[in-house]
Amino acid sequence: MAGSALPPVGVFALQGDVREHVAVLRELGADVREVRTPDQLADVGGLVLPGGESSVMDKLSRLFGLREPLRARIAAGMPVYGTCAGMIMLSDRVLDAIDGQLTLGGLDVTVRRNAFGNQLDSFETDLAIPALGDPAVHAVFIRAPVVVDAGVGVEVLSALDDGRIVAVEQGRLLATAFHPEVAGETRFHERFLAHVAAAENAAS
Ligand code: GLN
Repeated sequence: MAGSALPPVGVFALQGDVREHVAVLRELGADVREVRTPDQLADVGGLVLPGGESSVMDKLSRLFGLREPLRARIAAGMPVYGTCAGMIMLSDRVLDAIDGQLTLGGLDVTVRRNAFGNQLDSFETDLAIPALGDPAVHAVFIRAPVVVDAGVGVEVLSALDDGRIVAVEQGRLLATAFHPEVAGETRFHERFLAHVAAAENAAS
């Protein structure tokens, strides 16, 4: 599906599990670039914000002058897919952030960092996600956030059995609290690439 008509797509590469996302996107046929500078950001038609540590991503994106260009591109409708720390970066509001931690924002949600606490740092589960169809998604959670509040424009793609929201979409912004890129799951990245294609068609 990701044919040559797609513009290059980027993976935010100042911190996090960059390689895993690059590998999935390449497997899907995308022209993938690592993004560390505003110039590199200008060359891509969509961006993945990987998992990692959101407070470090925040600091580095400010240090490398990426924060404002990223916010401008998000405001202008660039498709973004954020996993875990990337979901936090995309959220308008964050609970249990470190002092002074900022997010990029764009998604009208509140997330809680490290929502599963120390006793349950990491776990895996199968999630039924109607928007993706069968089979269920094998979801790997690593010191993951959850969405505690979502605005009216936000579509909830998936919640745990206890109701906690772990995958959302708002326009061309997609975010999961878990890591499909480490579980051989490609459907979220395909969905992201479809957003990139739609944005490209809308622009031309
Ligand atoms: N706990 C991390 C944070 O706050 C996210 C963990 C992850 O991305 N796997 O950014």
